[in-house]
Amino acid sequence: MSEIGSESNPLRVAIIGAGPSGFYTVSNFLKHKDLHVEFDMFDRLPTPYGLVRAGVAPDHQKDKSVQRAYDKSAQSANFRFYGNVEYGRDIHLDDLRRHYHQVMFTSGAPFDRNLGIPGEELAGSHSATEFVAWYNGHPDFVGRDFDLDQESVAVVGVGNVAMDVARILCKTHAELAVTDMADYALDALQNSKVKNVYILGRRGPAQAAFTPPEIKEMGEFEDADVTVPAGEATLDPASAAALEAGGDKNAQKNVTYIEEYASRESSGKSRLLTIRFLVSPTELIGEDGRVTGIKLVKNKLVQGDDGSIRPQATDEEEIIPVGLVFRSVGYLGRPLPEIPYDERNGTINNSAGRVQAEDGSAVTGIYTAGWIKRGPTGVIGTNKTCAQETVGCMVEDLAAGQINMPEDPSAEGAQQLIDARQPDAISYPEWLRIDAEETSRGEAAGRPRVKFTDIAEMVSIAKS
Ligand code: NAP
Repeated sequence: MSEIGSESNPLRVAIIGAGPSGFYTVSNFLKHKDLHVEFDMFDRLPTPYGLVRAGVAPDHQKDKSVQRAYDKSAQSANFRFYGNVEYGRDIHLDDLRRHYHQVMFTSGAPFDRNLGIPGEELAGSHSATEFVAWYNGHPDFVGRDFDLDQESVAVVGVGNVAMDVARILCKTHAELAVTDMADYALDALQNSKVKNVYILGRRGPAQAAFTPPEIKEMGEFEDADVTVPAGEATLDPASAAALEAGGDKNAQKNVTYIEEYASRESSGKSRLLTIRFLVSPTELIGEDGRVTGIKLVKNKLVQGDDGSIRPQATDEEEIIPVGLVFRSVGYLGRPLPEIPYDERNGTINNSAGRVQAEDGSAVTGIYTAGWIKRGPTGVIGTNKTCAQETVGCMVEDLAAGQINMPEDPSAEGAQQLIDARQPDAISYPEWLRIDAEETSRGEAAGRPRVKFTDIAEMVSIAKS
């Protein structure tokens, strides 16, 4: 038998999750020109691209252009896509061990963190991830209901997801109608009665997690003004000193935008976005099971011995009347059947992408990359270097003979298994059919695409 990774005996790699990290796994392997690899990429949805399709904001089409590079990887001869096939439902770890030398888990972080405060379970309290998935047409979130009859909304957290949510709430129908947002969301938002949007940060402007292009956009709405209470835009001495020292260019730019917003006069637009700092929610107030307000405690900032600047509650409290709350305090990983999981961090147990058992030993042939490896941080491109590190380990382990030895490493064997388990599996050419139909519907409406949001409908288009 020739060497594994040669033309006659290719390395068989299964990738679970067709988001950025899954595709960067392929592109990183393709850089190893001497290695022959067959990739089978699985996703529980019929569509590829993960959060690029269902997370990246619909009014940020430029960020979605990475799809072109993913498409290029997908066109390589030894790549196969199995959409609508779910790990843990249709295929299991022993199936993968039977057919692949190496398995890469790139399943992302689909859950959300909660605040752990009273009232969080009230109607009208949602996670930002739920709202994002809804307006992006993720099939699992189609039926969600957000009460956009409410005039005031709070978004907790000052990361880029909070910026996305607030932007979508503040934009006019005309601004949204040119996006690929799901049609039902476009309709619901057209009838939105939202007038006041509050973004709530627990620390100061210098510690905000958003990035400069995102905060800049907050000052450019067609029909929404932006403001920041002057007292909350002013930096405390420790933050000012840290900024002065010049380490963090993004923070410097963020602070400049915030200061400018604090000095802006209202121009009388229909909506008002208020960005607050130094406040932490302590309770969601409700009436008849519905949110009617959010109780906040004012924070001051304290510097720890390690130099970090943390919020500390004062005894000053306030209640903002709001009928809708989106908590946007970070995504969270989902444990996968039979894969060692670190509950505290919400990630697969791993070292540099090599999956580890509880005793710290490497689990042969099992790897991870992306948010489920390192947690929900960084921009799309961060996943490229993340996948590169893991692929480096996979290549190293192959050279050292540390791989899984499958009983049936043939592509046909895997295909037969999938045919038996999920007859409605979607191949890449079938996805391209869905894609073509969506973009042609979009062209007719002057939009990038009009998405299908129903799995049965997607399958029917794909198989037509
Ligand atoms: P994130 O960047 O980690 O921000 C989370 C925010 O929640 C922080 O402001 C954090 O404040 C705050 N927070 C956490 N726990 C809190 C609590 N108990 N009470 C109040 N506030 C709390 O998370 P994200 O916004 O979900 O974004 C995830 C990743 O996706 C990020 O890397 C982000 O940059 C990326 N992303 C990028 C884009 C883009 O490039 N346009 C768009 C969307 C997402 P502290 O800092 O005080 O903890």
